[in-house]
Amino acid sequence: MSKLYFRFGAMNCGKSSALMQVAHNYEENGKKIVVIKPAIDTKANDKLSSRIGLERKVDILIGEDESFTNYYKLFDNFISCILVDEAQFLTEEQVEELWYVSKMFNIPVICYGLKVDFRSNLFPGSKRLLELSDEMEELITICECGKRAKFNVRYVDNKYTEDGDSVLIDGSTSNTEYKPTCGKCYMKLKYKIN
Ligand SMILES: [Zn+2]
Repeated sequence: MSKLYFRFGAMNCGKSSALMQVAHNYEENGKKIVVIKPAIDTKANDKLSSRIGLERKVDILIGEDESFTNYYKLFDNFISCILVDEAQFLTEEQVEELWYVSKMFNIPVICYGLKVDFRSNLFPGSKRLLELSDEMEELITICECGKRAKFNVRYVDNKYTEDGDSVLIDGSTSNTEYKPTCGKCYMKLKYKIN
């Protein structure tokens, strides 16, 4: 029986870089892996990209209405690991399917993603991963003030906002960006404390 892992953190904590490093380690040892990304993340299309310039093609771009059961035939004995980027965008059903794969196909599944959205609410995929994963690890990133960032704050035209859809891909509209933010800085923005 293999494990389902959830490695989460705020924006810019190096999730994609960490995933690509793990992929590299497997492949360097001649192991086959499968890299998955939800299609809803349109950034870099069918590639993973990291801020430090690494890039890698995705093996499965999974649609929101799609089931992993369509891909079970790919998950054979030769696959050593399944790696998922932007796992917060998986549906609850898709997380359950990956959980099934880890146990019944005996393939470790490592999911990287955000825990909470810009309103500090769990993403549905992350909620199910917190519920089902065998092991969790928090990846660290730092707020502007130097403290550990736990939240993802949305800025539109450089102004803090809690408005809009919970899925708005960074850079998909030119005026939207996200910043990793610590609890105190987030609270000051949220409650307009100076
Ligand atoms: Zn801060």
